Amino acid sequence: MECDKVRRYISGYVAGVLEEGLKSAVAAHVERCEECGQIARVERLLTSPPAEPPSSARHIIALTLRDLEAGAEAAKKVWSDLNALQAATEEAPIIKIAHALIEQAIRGGAAALRLLPREDSVSVVYEVGAHEAELAVIPKYIEAPLIARFKKMAGLDIAPVRESCSGEIAVRMGRKDYRLLVRVSPAEFGEEVDVRIALE
Ligand SMILES: [Zn+2]
Repeated sequence: MECDKVRRYISGYVAGVLEEGLKSAVAAHVERCEECGQIARVERLLTSPPAEPPSSARHIIALTLRDLEAGAEAAKKVWSDLNALQAATEEAPIIKIAHALIEQAIRGGAAALRLLPREDSVSVVYEVGAHEAELAVIPKYIEAPLIARFKKMAGLDIAPVRESCSGEIAVRMGRKDYRLLVRVSPAEFGEEVDVRIALE
């Protein structure tokens, strides 16, 4: 089967709804074609079903944000105070979101995970091979504590950076050790976080 034909069936393949013959043809192709294999991985990364454990990061983020919204006031403060920010990095919702993002990136075979601040939100982008996929868009009010959490895990100071700086996070998942290289740089709408994932 040719690549462009395979790609029309990739969503169905990942969702498990193709009829047998088509399924094995697509499966055989994604096995040997690196490009289509990567597209299938991106598709899987974006659509892992929320009902099944472990839940997808998207689902965890949605639930966590719902909790945060319910607690409203505290969640929406402006982070001008570093002590408040420091405390916020220890709050369960922030830890949960940071871990869900890392876990899903590793599980999905992503080479990198990036937090890209926009004017009114933060885009979470995963890199799988040559492909980029936006996993989630996170509200602006948790940008500062979430980025501070990544900095803290990487052994960096949580204060806003003036120039790029980097640190490392060691993660053990499924008996494998990963090294995450975290780079934080000033950007137009905040600070950009680039996390490169490597197997030890
Ligand atoms: Zn192909």
